[in-house]
Amino acid sequence: MNHLIQLRHTLHQFPEIAQEEHNTAQKIMEFFASLGADRTIQNLGGTGLAFVFKGKKAGKRLLFRCELDALPIEDLKPSDHQSQIPGKGHLCGHDGHMTIICGLGEKLSQNRPESGEVVLLFQPAEETGDGAKAILEDPRFEEIRPDAAFALHNLPGYPLHQVVMRKGTFAAGSTGMTISLTGKTSHSAHPEAGINPAQALASLMQKLPELPKEVSGFALLTLIHAELGSLAFGTSAGRASLSMTLRAYDQNDLEKLIDLVKEKATLVAEKAGLKIDFGFVESFAVSKNDPELYPIVENAARNLGLSIIEKPEPFRWSEDFGLFSQICPSFLFGLGAGEDCPQLHEGTYDFPDELIKTGVGMFVEIWRLIQKEE
Ligand SMILES: [Zn+2]
Ligand SMILES: [Zn+2]
Repeated sequence: MNHLIQLRHTLHQFPEIAQEEHNTAQKIMEFFASLGADRTIQNLGGTGLAFVFKGKKAGKRLLFRCELDALPIEDLKPSDHQSQIPGKGHLCGHDGHMTIICGLGEKLSQNRPESGEVVLLFQPAEETGDGAKAILEDPRFEEIRPDAAFALHNLPGYPLHQVVMRKGTFAAGSTGMTISLTGKTSHSAHPEAGINPAQALASLMQKLPELPKEVSGFALLTLIHAELGSLAFGTSAGRASLSMTLRAYDQNDLEKLIDLVKEKATLVAEKAGLKIDFGFVESFAVSKNDPELYPIVENAARNLGLSIIEKPEPFRWSEDFGLFSQICPSFLFGLGAGEDCPQLHEGTYDFPDELIKTGVGMFVEIWRLIQKEE
């Protein structure tokens, strides 16, 4: 287990952000070099990697997924493995998740599947919501398209090693949305000669956050940025933009909210004689857990003697693993990182090494239970 902790610390020292995970992928390749995977796919959806371990007989293909990327946030926790890259840190614990999948790779190498196949997927760019999409759109994904997919995320605020479960939606879907308004500049002495989007912007800032009330399930619209004209005091503003994050527990509700925003904003813009454009970034699908996989994950936790909590409400944050739930039965569960652990994306956060063994144990047990069923 010591060498796994060592690996985690090395990954932590050299974080790479979304779409730049070349050296990280290289380190993972080196780790797997001696494990004898039956198939290795490199540069999957960018920097992604997949290692396939095949059984002797035909059977289900299971996929276990982790993330390669770190965050553009400074690692503020002094330790012997503190980030050596200024302004970048593994502050979501993806270093830990990768190490867990490496540990699972070792177990599979020692104890090959009897039947079916196990795919270990190292996915790029989770934090931007681009990675899962890029993996699924890579033509080589067809060779590893799974019958079931699993992933875990460590969860600060929950007791260390506790397994956090939910049937149905586990984490919300969300999208970043930017509304751009284009009017016409004019001399600030003659604002009536131009089209200044200030009033339209103010109206949208007031009205849009109310729209989630018109959606039946949970939905939320949070304003995150606004811009009007520029700091030129002789000029009446000619353009504006408003950015927001939309989220919902149900994919249809999320799409309904997007439509409502478009409708309302178009109306406001047209009234003011403004041109309007919409942009979307960082779109995450709802992460939906398959009810039939629930007892398997639950039994795995039981067999390991771990405490289990069924979360009454889905998480409001998003995980791009949600896209996998649109193509096959999938299950995402949480692993408590301790009540005193700083929250994810905080500068002082550091993945608890104790979770490596628990995470490997959970995935090995899930794999064993499914093999037994076949
Ligand atoms: Zn994160
Ligand atoms: Zn994460």
